[in-house]
Parts: sequence; C-alpha cells; structure tokens
Amino acid sequence: MNTAYLSTIEELNPVLINSNSKVVILTDSNVQLHCLPLFKRLNVYYEVIVLNAGEVNKNIDSLQLILEKLFNFGMSKNDLLVNLGGGVISDIGGLAAALYKRGLNYINIPTTLMGMIDAAHGGKTAINFNEIKNSLGLFYKPLKTYIYTPFLQTLPTDEIKNGFGEIIKYGIIAGGELFNEISSITDINDLYKNKSLITKCIDIKLSIVEKDFFDIGARKVLNLGHTIGHALESINEDLNQSHGFYVAHGIAIESIISFKKGLLSEGDLDSILVLVFRFFNKPKECNIEHIWQKCMHDKKNTNQVIASLPLGIGNVSEGIEITKLELNEAFFFYNGFY
Ligand code: NAD
Repeated sequence: MNTAYLSTIEELNPVLINSNSKVVILTDSNVQLHCLPLFKRLNVYYEVIVLNAGEVNKNIDSLQLILEKLFNFGMSKNDLLVNLGGGVISDIGGLAAALYKRGLNYINIPTTLMGMIDAAHGGKTAINFNEIKNSLGLFYKPLKTYIYTPFLQTLPTDEIKNGFGEIIKYGIIAGGELFNEISSITDINDLYKNKSLITKCIDIKLSIVEKDFFDIGARKVLNLGHTIGHALESINEDLNQSHGFYVAHGIAIESIISFKKGLLSEGDLDSILVLVFRFFNKPKECNIEHIWQKCMHDKKNTNQVIASLPLGIGNVSEGIEITKLELNEAFFFYNGFY
C-alpha cells in the first residue's frame, strides 16, 4: 500500500524510528505553526528545514537551500526526508529527494486537502522555473504517503475550496455514486471528517497513475479542467482565488465545449454546472482572446489546443482538440448561465 492513514501522530513513531537513522522534516512557515508542534509527541530526533509559505517559494533558491541543508546534516541516501505540508512542500521536497545523491528516501505527510487527495501521490515532483510552473521536475515516488485528516481543521476555507475543485474533477472522472455524494455536500469545511471521500479520491488518482506513471497517456485525464483553468488562472492573477477555483471553472467551460461538440449530454452538463456554481463564483476576467493565447502557450500544447474533456459523468477522455470557435461559443453559453 502506498498510502496509510494515521489516527494519531504517535503512529509515526515506528515508521521514523525503524526505517532510518536520520530524519529531516521539510515544512513551511504556516505548517510549522499549525502542524509541526504535534511532532513533539514523537520519540524521535529530527532536524527541521522551514521554507517561507507560498507558491512563489517553489523555486530553485529554495531547492538549493534544501539540498545544502541535507548535505550539512550529513544525510545518507538511506536516511529519511519527511515532507510535511501542502503540494508546494511535497513537490519541492520530492524533487530534492530525487536529486540528492541520486535518490534519498522520502515520505509525504500532506497537511492540505490538495495535498491529501492529489499532490502527495503519484511521484510527480517539481519546482517553477523561468516563470513557468512546474517546468523543472522528475518522477520520483515517496516510500509512502501518510494521511492525518485532523490537519485540515486549521486550513483556511479558501484552501479547502482549492482542494474541492480537484474533488469535483474526481467525481466527474469516476461518476456514479461518487459524483452524487460530492453533489450532495453542503459544507466543505466538514471535509476533515469525511475520510472515506478523501480515500475514494486518492484511490482514483493512484489507479490512474498506476496505468501511466510517466504521464504519456491515460494519466492525462487528470488534466480535466486544467487547460482552460490554467489559462484563466494566469490571466486573472487574483491572489484571492486558488488554483482549485480556476480548475472548477475550467471544468465548467470544458464541459460546455464537450456539450457543444455533441460529446456530453445536456443532463450531465447541467449537473456539472450546478455543482461548480454552487461553490465557485465566476472569475473576474474572462477575455477570450487572452484565454486562447494562454491555451496555445500551455506547455502541454504545441500548435493546437488539446484538452481532456468529459464525455459523460464517469467518462473523461484525453487528447481532444479544442478550436477557437468552440471556445468562443462555450464562453457565450457560460456567460449566460448564471
Ligand atoms: P500549499 O502547499 O502552498 O499550501 C497552501 C497554503 O496552506 C500555504 O500557505 C500553507 O502554508 C498552508 N497550510 C498548509 N497546511 C496547513 C494547515 N494544516 N493549516 C493551516 N495552513 C496550512 O498549496 P497546495 O494547494 O497544498 O498545493 C499546491 C501545489 O501543489 C502547487 O504548487 C501545485 O503545482 C502542486 N500540485 C502538485 C501535484 C502533483 O501531482 N505533484 C498535484 C496537484 C498540485
């Protein structure tokens, strides 16, 4: 099993004591405040590396700092790096582990919803470089990911919403009961109590990753909502809105495109739009020309815009071309929806 669930932090004692001699915990300044104090309960000696919180710090300077500290602590490749934090920490910590002496053991302990259901699984590691998100990275799996859902209790609502955008994506990929369960959620701040939903999302991610670890085919269905979502995110630059917010709207617009192409039924489109708009207001800036330009410059695209689109709730297909005319039509529909 790649994932284990913790009822108490003390359950980490045997993991940290038995498997390795030295332990280094990588975390960020918010997680240091909210989650790291629990680790004082452990009977383990560990060193700590703290990055300033935030996506802007997922960069080469932070990577260099982590690597220097690992050398200063005299880590051997059989010692253990613990990535305690959200997706920023698991991405950059995973990359540092991959590079350090050609592969240091590491585990992830996600503290955000985004980390628990997505970023901490699947072995994609990265930093942002040259102003391009995730443009340097490697595929390198953690030994295991440990989920402790009470960490979510200190997570701000916007960060819960951030993860919830991705949960909607899993609901559309899996369909059936999972989509109905997600559609019936009324309070997303209660998600920390819903271990079973978190588990279902993780299982979907892992089953897809297992088919295509290096992201050359089947794994691309996980990009649902991301082609338009990334474009919306980069033209809005609204720091008050999260990545998951734009992914949710990306899902809405890509679903409309699929409907307009005759690939998605009106009933399924309606269910998706109702769910998205229940939790996410529209973004401020939706200039279609700007969105199209961003889509064309997406690192996933060359001369055409390719996306993963829903063909039904429970059926997502990757590698479908979107034209500018289809994007225009979809926005016309989307602007009139709410
Ligand atoms: P994040 O790591 O920046 O965390 C969000 C914010 O929440 C930060 O300010 C953090 O300090 C704070 N925080 C974390 N845990 C907390 C807690 N328990 N209580 C209070 N505050 C807490 O962001 P994220 O949304 O977790 O992850 C986004 C990153 O993940 C992006 O860089 C994205 O590219 C990456 N990602 C990677 C993958 C992958 O497969 N590798 C998948 C999805 C996202």
